[in-house]
Amino acid sequence: MTTRTFRFRMFEVSREADRSAEPEFEAVCVSGDEKDCGEASGPLVDAERLDTWMAEHTRDTGHQRFRRAYCEYATVEPGAWL
Ligand SMILES: [Zn+2]
Repeated sequence: MTTRTFRFRMFEVSREADRSAEPEFEAVCVSGDEKDCGEASGPLVDAERLDTWMAEHTRDTGHQRFRRAYCEYATVEPGAWL
């Protein structure tokens, strides 16, 4: 959790605890000489499954470079004026 002060008001930014808002892991293959391969894992719910997807893509294609992203949901709670 982080706290920022903006125009003399406190704002609390938190990771959303709601179970329906699970983090997402995703990778896109960026291997290729002139153009990236571009094959994407799509959103996955855990890092281990993403590792598996990348390993299988490397096994099948020989491609070894990926752009990997992690996303989660956050909420901002306006707090007290200072
Ligand atoms: Zn690829």
